[in-house]
Amino acid sequence: MTGVRVRGAGGINTISADFVADASGRGSRSPAWLDALGYDKPREESIPVNIGYMTRLYRRQPEHLSGKQAVILGACQPDWRFGVILAQEHDRWIVTLGGYFGDHAPADEAGYIEFARSLQKPEVFEVIRNAEPLTPLRPYQFSANLRRHYEELPRFPGGYLVFGDALCSFNPIYGQGMTVAAMEALALRECLNRGAQGVARRFFRAASRLIDVPWQIAVGSDLQHPEVQGKRPAQVRFINWYLSKFYQAAQRDGVLATRFLEVANLMKQPSALLEPRIALRVWKGNRAAA
Ligand SMILES: Cc1cc2nc3c(=O)[nH]c(=O)nc-3n(C[C@H](O)[C@H](O)[C@H](O)COP(=O)(O)OP(=O)(O)OC[C@H]3O[C@@H](n4cnc5c(N)ncnc54)[C@H](O)[C@@H]3O)c2cc1C
Repeated sequence: MTGVRVRGAGGINTISADFVADASGRGSRSPAWLDALGYDKPREESIPVNIGYMTRLYRRQPEHLSGKQAVILGACQPDWRFGVILAQEHDRWIVTLGGYFGDHAPADEAGYIEFARSLQKPEVFEVIRNAEPLTPLRPYQFSANLRRHYEELPRFPGGYLVFGDALCSFNPIYGQGMTVAAMEALALRECLNRGAQGVARRFFRAASRLIDVPWQIAVGSDLQHPEVQGKRPAQVRFINWYLSKFYQAAQRDGVLATRFLEVANLMKQPSALLEPRIALRVWKGNRAAA
């Protein structure tokens, strides 16, 4: 690879480069470009979820949520709807409501409030039913978790690699993509420090290992939804059973809630959810709720 061709106001320009990284996001055309150049395309794993959410800013009043800064109502059975309300600077809330497989929050005022009322806990509804909206409702849709296995390709052009969402894009409700891209940047620096020869192969292997855990978290969690298509080996079924118990106990246990966020935000390995003292809290939390 010797550079990129850029189409701008002044026409098409060619920029020469020793090294080119495709960081063009999930719509990356690298598979098609590789194909056109006679290389194999990477194997793709796609786990459709068809989620859609609608976001809006509201004025934040001191009495809202008794002073709490956030409430996150994660998607879970029976309806898999979710709602998030987070405090932002300048006395604002950012509110996002959504669901899976076309069960998306409506774009009209009344429908949006009604969707908030339908959530399994009332906090988001209780704020937005009377709060002052500061922006229009803004939609976002996401079709599928998508992973491209470049690390499996036997041949790849020199001076080139694929990076970030172009490699793997996760269901955004788990908030992992930027963290993974930052971890990949560190891995790429390390690969480049060892010389430009074979850098793509080294990078794709390193990136694949980095992606494994967040992919397992995002896809494993999505597979709790019965309509999500994908293999559910015994390990995934056990983890999802355990997670349902974990969520139940974490509703009233700050240690468990914090531990869950540490894992979801990639600060700890998923095995941290299974440590004996944590598992004991999960068991006690469920026994107390029974
Ligand atoms: C709604 C939403 C919420 C998210 N929330 C979080 C979160 O809370 N935490 C988190 O870690 N991650 C989150 N993510 C994921 C995160 O945004 C992405 O993983 C991250 O932005 C990926 O970075 P990237 O540079 O690989 O791709 P992108 O951010 O998609 O950037 C690709 C860029 O390339 C440009 N481009 C594409 N094609 C061309 C072309 N042919 N020529 C020139 N330019 C081109 C695009 O315009 C774009 O600017 C969220 C994603 C979404 C959609």
